Amino acid sequence: MMMKPVFFFLLCLLFSSCLLAQSKISPDQALTLLKEGNLRFVNGLPTKPRQDLNRIKEIASSQSPFATIVGCSDSRVPNEIIFDQGLGDLFIVRTAGQVSTYASWGSIEFAEEILGTKLIVVLGHTKCGAVSAAVHLPEVPGHIVTLINAIKPAVEKAKSKGATDVLDEAIRENIRMQVEQLKSLEPVLAKRVREGSIKIVGALYDLNSGKIDFFE
Ligand SMILES: [Zn+2]
Repeated sequence: MMMKPVFFFLLCLLFSSCLLAQSKISPDQALTLLKEGNLRFVNGLPTKPRQDLNRIKEIASSQSPFATIVGCSDSRVPNEIIFDQGLGDLFIVRTAGQVSTYASWGSIEFAEEILGTKLIVVLGHTKCGAVSAAVHLPEVPGHIVTLINAIKPAVEKAKSKGATDVLDEAIRENIRMQVEQLKSLEPVLAKRVREGSIKIVGALYDLNSGKIDFFE
């Protein structure tokens, strides 16, 4: 990577997980792997790759996941299963409504700078409870308000467009806004996007079909 060697070495020591290799898979190759995996899953023909004891041993000393998924915590959207991938393939950051704050951003940057993932997918899903709460609930308890406040701008935008299905449009708008947020996130991600060395795309998982629609 273009990071200063000494700084990179210190980070590697700190996390002791990147001493062997970074992912060499390009953003477009990574996208193809995810699309092919979801197609296998949807067609009922998953190969469940790299999920055996050999794989555990193979990656015990280092990891080089080929994509970062920023997804919703929803129990019905298990990333390795719906993308038909295995151990060490995906670096995953999940919060309800895939809302990102500082800890998420640090995790995403870690995957990109240290582990070498060059594709980031913001993965929302239909009927998302967090977005639904932002659309329908006037008040929520405790820290849930953090999620709602982050999603509200997407709800307002969906309403201002006059969408007939406000929830569906807010879910899509939330994904689009989160993609833009990450693309402009200084100092790391925005720089890599400008260089063209990474790609950040949105995607929507359909709870009814299992199919993932990529926004490109
Ligand atoms: Zn959700």
